[in-house]
Amino acid sequence: MTTIPTQAELATLALETARRCGVDLDAVAGDVTTVSPVNGQRVASLARHGAAGVDAAVSRAQDAFLAWRRVPAPARGAAVKRFGELLAEHKDDLAVLVSIEAGKITSEARGEIQEMIDICDFAVGLSRQLYGRTMPSERPGHRLMETWHPLGVVGVISAFNFPAAVWSWNTAIALVCGDPVVWKPSELTPLTSLACHAVLLQALAEHDAPAGLSQVVLGGPEAGEALVGHPGVALLSATGSTRMGSAVGPRVAERFGRSLLELGGNNAAVVAPSADLDLTVRGIVFSAAGTAGQRCTTMRRVIAHRSVADELTDRLSAAYERLPIGNPMADGVLVGPLVNRRAYDAMAAAVEQAQADGGSLVAGGGRVLEDAAPDAFYARPAIVRMEKQSDVVGRETFAPLLYVLPYDDFAEAIALNNAVPQGLSSSVFTSDVAEAELFCSAEGSDCGIVNVNIGTSGAEIGGAFGGEKETGGGRESGSDAWRAYMRRATNTINYSGELPLAQGVDFTV
Ligand code: NAD
Repeated sequence: MTTIPTQAELATLALETARRCGVDLDAVAGDVTTVSPVNGQRVASLARHGAAGVDAAVSRAQDAFLAWRRVPAPARGAAVKRFGELLAEHKDDLAVLVSIEAGKITSEARGEIQEMIDICDFAVGLSRQLYGRTMPSERPGHRLMETWHPLGVVGVISAFNFPAAVWSWNTAIALVCGDPVVWKPSELTPLTSLACHAVLLQALAEHDAPAGLSQVVLGGPEAGEALVGHPGVALLSATGSTRMGSAVGPRVAERFGRSLLELGGNNAAVVAPSADLDLTVRGIVFSAAGTAGQRCTTMRRVIAHRSVADELTDRLSAAYERLPIGNPMADGVLVGPLVNRRAYDAMAAAVEQAQADGGSLVAGGGRVLEDAAPDAFYARPAIVRMEKQSDVVGRETFAPLLYVLPYDDFAEAIALNNAVPQGLSSSVFTSDVAEAELFCSAEGSDCGIVNVNIGTSGAEIGGAFGGEKETGGGRESGSDAWRAYMRRATNTINYSGELPLAQGVDFTV
């Protein structure tokens, strides 16, 4: 059993750590209390800039845009390179804040900061590779090409569960693309955002970047709504629940803005009879119980061939029994707290509903550490065997709750994988190459992330990240996701001295 830190211990650690990262705590003091999920108690009282802060921030960002777009992309990349170096110096500190505010275990919190460093590396390389294409023109003496230009102010709204990395995916790419960023972080993780931002400001200052290039607006949904509706925000990148996305998407579309939505997932693994069960169990346990089930890519469903479903469930249940739950900053702990009471209540309600729908609870499900941490919500990761995919299975319950469903033939497994409203991540565990290929094919998984013999979570930054259907369709991070942060111009250059028209049109006067 781990010891839960006291309110004073955790608050002191958080404030000292934020200060070391460069946060001016006096400047951000206010009367909104923030709470750590680790002990459920107060960490700090901070200002809330709210909707009123958004307008001023966007206007400062617009001024910064006019200067930053003139800076050559490789020089913009140099500032991001410095950001990556400073993140490496502050990796431990930033990870501590992620643990305190989001409840992640140290290894995963450090992984989140490593992801920030990785995206900086990627963006630096990208700053010399913002390629446009040249196409053959149908007209003699003409050149047809495209150029990519900075887009404008990028508004970023982020969720509590990736309080640092999601912003950095957007920011590192936006900055090399020539765009300023206004960030509305989750109201649950303000100190992490202030600390990340302070580190970036140091890098930007060293590179004489214009003031206002990166800003943070603290607040809740009302601040997010102001950013969403602001006509000065060219791209609104929002990460969070489908509920939030369904409010945000139409509002941005209404003003003809561009949106990039990264919303909820309901991710499944198909486990075929030929699967290596040792590897499968390890892959599932990390994806389903890691981060206390609070990743958008958390595995929420296992669709197991009927011939292996019992053995797999037994082995998963045994592994779940061994999961150390507790203070996420303590050595050896693998499962930290849920973010708050609401998350715990949602998990308990989903377990109850699943049982009412005919499911049987085969592992976990209760609250733990209630005496040691009465204000915090630690839950034992749960497994529920279901015969059918009922409504509750189709919903994302943001907690460590895994449903195990049987299938008889592989086409049915694919159909079950796809039969939910979300489309973020998926995987198949199999040794059958044909099954693996089918799962990855056009007739296979309909998700944005489709894996083979690896769990649904823990993506690398090099690929484009995001999903289909209610997950929102946006893509962030690697590959060509940068294009969302730029505008494309198609140029036709005539050096022929004649004026031939396309498609052979004759307009001789
Ligand atoms: P949430 O939707 O409650 O909040 C996310 C952010 O949106 C917060 O900053 C919040 O203040 C803001 N917000 C809420 N309502 C808004 C509105 N009407 N207008 C503008 N902003 C608004 O989500 P959460 O509980 O912080 O995070 C968990 C959810 O995020 C899960 O559904 C998870 O799957 C999802 N998520 C998705 C990804 C992804 O990349 N697809 C990554 C991380 C988290």
